[in-house]
Amino acid sequence: MPSTEHVDVLIVGAGLSGIGAACRIATECPGTSFAVLEAREASGGTWDLFRYPGIRSDTDMFTLGYPFNPWPEHQAIADGAMIRGYVRDTARKYGVDGAIRYRHRVLGASWSSEQARWTVDVERLDSGETFQLTCGFLFGCTGYYRYDEGYLPEFQGTERFRGQIVHPQHWPEDLDYAGKRVVVIGSGATAVTLVPAMAEQAGHVTMLQRSPSYVIALPGYDALSTLAHRLLPTRAAYTFVRWKNVLLGALFYELSRRRPRLIKRVIRRGLERQLPPGFDIDTHFRPRYDPWDERVCIVRDGDLFSALRNGKASVVTDRIETFTEHGLRLASGEELEADVIVTATGLNLLMLGGMALAVDGEPVRMSETVGYKGMMFSGVPNAAITLGYTNASWTLKGDLCAQYVCRLLNHMKARGLDRVVPKAPAPGAPRHPFIDLRSGYVLRSLDELPKQGDRPPWRMYQNYPRDIRMMRRGPLEDEAIEFSRTRTAAPDATAVPA
Ligand SMILES: Cc1cc2nc3c(=O)[nH]c(=O)nc-3n(C[C@H](O)[C@H](O)[C@H](O)COP(=O)(O)OP(=O)(O)OC[C@H]3O[C@@H](n4cnc5c(N)ncnc54)[C@H](O)[C@@H]3O)c2cc1C
Repeated sequence: MPSTEHVDVLIVGAGLSGIGAACRIATECPGTSFAVLEAREASGGTWDLFRYPGIRSDTDMFTLGYPFNPWPEHQAIADGAMIRGYVRDTARKYGVDGAIRYRHRVLGASWSSEQARWTVDVERLDSGETFQLTCGFLFGCTGYYRYDEGYLPEFQGTERFRGQIVHPQHWPEDLDYAGKRVVVIGSGATAVTLVPAMAEQAGHVTMLQRSPSYVIALPGYDALSTLAHRLLPTRAAYTFVRWKNVLLGALFYELSRRRPRLIKRVIRRGLERQLPPGFDIDTHFRPRYDPWDERVCIVRDGDLFSALRNGKASVVTDRIETFTEHGLRLASGEELEADVIVTATGLNLLMLGGMALAVDGEPVRMSETVGYKGMMFSGVPNAAITLGYTNASWTLKGDLCAQYVCRLLNHMKARGLDRVVPKAPAPGAPRHPFIDLRSGYVLRSLDELPKQGDRPPWRMYQNYPRDIRMMRRGPLEDEAIEFSRTRTAAPDATAVPA
């Protein structure tokens, strides 16, 4: 790639979001040039990286799929490989796969107000060479966590352990655990997925958690989807099931926030039905927080509970004192023997894929910025990120971000504008954490994250219908955003109206 190459939009990342963004730009912004730079050698992001047994979605595919390309299966909770295939098929179908340049890691980007463009530093991971290109708009679709390293708390005595220690983010392809004693450390989405999947082959799997999470069983197949597909054309059936799931999800979330005791009772009833009589629900499945203070875990068709019922798996709630030669010693004094220990201890949050940004020579400290509509940042011109919902499928918000960027680009093109920059709320106005979960991986990184305000457009409501109004239909110009023309750009009469 020559160092002088310029594209109108540079998308960073070829996961679910980057490919969705590319499809939107290709279809909604005719005449806009774009490229997708991807650090890895393959597309799919999360759905290509994670290869642990049982890897699957924990929100339904009718909302995790793109609205413009119906999820082709009846399976609502889908395996990682199916999601990966769907993302890649979408890229092919919309002709954007050719725009992806693999093994290209974006290291940083600096904005010049004089030139109204970003100069982007890129490293080619195949040759080690670095080069620059320029773009008019930078769209970070880099996900929200570090790819090179999962989170691992400091455990004592790991060097003594004679068995194998595995992190789900770096699953060894040839790991043989058939008939072996496995301990999975963790209580989040990954742990509750891994335990029943590994229990199919392992001698026994113990889920070892420090504290419990909310766990709910959901059917893997959506019966209503099968019926809707029989009665309606594909797109109409997809839209119907998608909205059914959006509304049910929103209802569950709102009730969890407003009537937590009711929701706790409902979850408890579900557990009592699924778990064997006498199971100590209070110790193992009764969190100290309210539902949706942290993400609620979903188990497909109650597979975790089946594994607990048939004795292939068990749960221990305790603290690890130390790893030993043969397993783990717990604070209670109990010893857990293991051949394989899986540390399902989470992710390391990372904004913008680690890219360093500068505006007119000044480094951008993301923690000092305030999010605008949850996707742009005060003082950072011509840039946006995709950050999905914490309480619903990522793509619902992700696709709204892509549509919003298309509207912005078309608006600017039609008016000959080349700079758009959000402003921060007035000094002294309340600022809140950018991500509203109390999960460990969020709390660990809170200091490095941007802030959000207490009212729109700086506040995020994690509410899809509300965001549709704001992002798809709401005005593009408001008191919190500034558009300008820096260079001699002329209005383009052929641009699609926003
Ligand atoms: C195990 C797991 C299960 C999940 N399950 C669900 C679920 O069921 N439902 C849900 O809604 N969400 C889920 N999520 C959240 C999930 O990450 C999103 O659903 C979605 O896959 C995010 O897509 P993305 O493209 O935004 O980010 P990612 O999938 O993380 O992709 C980002 C891409 O950007 C690339 N990249 C990053 N930095 C750079 C850089 N500097 N230069 C070049 N390329 C870069 C990465 O290599 C990667 O390919 C899950 C997350 C995990 C980890």
